[in-house]
Amino acid sequence: MKSSEIRQAFLDFFASKGHEIVASSPLVPGNDPTLLFTNAGMVQFKDCFLGNDVRSYTRAASSQRCVRAGGKHNDLENVGYTARHHTFFEMLGNFSFGDYFKEDAISYAWEFLTSKDWLNLPVEKLMVTVYAEDDEAFDIWNKKMGIPEDKIVRIGDNKGARYASDNFWQMGDTGPCGPCTEIFYDHGEHIWGGPPGTPEEDGDRFIEIWNNVFMQFERKADGEMLPLPKPSVDTGMGLERISAIMQGVHSNYEIDIFQALLKAAGELTGCKDTENKSLRVIADHIRSTSFLIVDGVLPSNEGRGYVLRRIIRRAVRHGHMLGASAGFFNKLVPALCEQMGEAYPELVNLSEHVQKVLRIEEEQFAKTLDKGMAILNDAIADMSGDTIPGETAFKLYDTYGFPLDLTADVARERDLKVDEDGFNTAMEKQRETARAAGNFSADYGKGLELDGETGFLGYESLENTGTVK
Ligand code: ATP
Ligand code: MG
Ligand code: MG
Ligand code: MG
Repeated sequence: MKSSEIRQAFLDFFASKGHEIVASSPLVPGNDPTLLFTNAGMVQFKDCFLGNDVRSYTRAASSQRCVRAGGKHNDLENVGYTARHHTFFEMLGNFSFGDYFKEDAISYAWEFLTSKDWLNLPVEKLMVTVYAEDDEAFDIWNKKMGIPEDKIVRIGDNKGARYASDNFWQMGDTGPCGPCTEIFYDHGEHIWGGPPGTPEEDGDRFIEIWNNVFMQFERKADGEMLPLPKPSVDTGMGLERISAIMQGVHSNYEIDIFQALLKAAGELTGCKDTENKSLRVIADHIRSTSFLIVDGVLPSNEGRGYVLRRIIRRAVRHGHMLGASAGFFNKLVPALCEQMGEAYPELVNLSEHVQKVLRIEEEQFAKTLDKGMAILNDAIADMSGDTIPGETAFKLYDTYGFPLDLTADVARERDLKVDEDGFNTAMEKQRETARAAGNFSADYGKGLELDGETGFLGYESLENTGTVK
């Protein structure tokens, strides 16, 4: 099955169960200024869960574009290092607003995944987790769905593993929350990793595909947990992860959409190895950056715009490492439109704008990238320990436009660290000097100049997302 067919099958399945099909909302959340980007399907429904927004339907399903870079859920550092994390991905979700609860949610998920009429996945490859104290969910899986006890893992508080979840979901420090049950797929013994709840769970053998959250509470600022007026369900399944399974491959980067992007990136950079980490980073980053621009974000030095800038510069640096000529990155936009334009017509409508914004940012960074890399390489050659000095990282940031995470990305490739405290001290020192001199603009780079063009200003709810000068 193609990714687009899986997306459609999911929506068709839930439509057949009485769900309203709701379009993806933009990546810049219109209803929550505290959230950097839409990072889950439930974001546009937050007020429905809280009982503050009553709609004509009580069950909904969507395929939501999500970005997890910066903010609470940040997967930027995982891209290229795991088989399953992207900065941009699509989350398939079904939602109940005070309608059905645990039993129906679990049986819908199981039917969609395992029934012959839908995805028909082999039951023996699947396993599930429940929240340690959620006997109700455990019993539904065990007694009603017939999952043997040894395939149901109770997960309690976070055990400190890098990606471990504690199976108690919350949107932020406040807001709706409750226990989760997650479904995992075993990609086979040949891949390193252990089942959830073991020390090896960070590996990519058992991959989480679907999370079902049972929203029972609202957490208040003082920590108090109030029961929600009616319990609700929020679920999310990564389209790329389920596509990998359906297409018989292990890594998300081997699915149809990514193969096409990797091929295009390979032509532009001269790297033909689709397993190359830098190529994968580039294929990932063209999706997040393009869709952020579609949704009204522009590169800038703060907030959402700075996250966008960081992602673009990372991609450009990886291209540079592969020997690509300057300006390669924006040329991936047509390939992206080909893969995703049908599902997201707004991408096609704005493709020229997207390409232009990327090109200008790329050109600006290309002016300092070579020089900055030379300085970084010299600094690394001169180092005695394994930590790049904060002063160097700051100089690269301040003079050459290297975001700190970009320097850290280079460091990680060479098994080195960056002295972040030293970086922050250098930054603070410079701010004080600037303050003393009455100069507040001692910052590298400005908001993006669009040659006097007004440009696309995005959605009306757009706030703090960059500057067009
Ligand atoms: P993981 O533990 O693998 O990081 P998660 O528990 O953080 O995933 P959830 O917040 O539960 O993920 O999101 C619901 C689903 O969305 C996941 O089960 C997964 O299929 C998908 N998903 C989450 N993060 C990503 C990502 N960065 N890239 C691709 N898919 C993702
Ligand atoms: Mg995660
Ligand atoms: Mg998880
Ligand atoms: Mg999860």
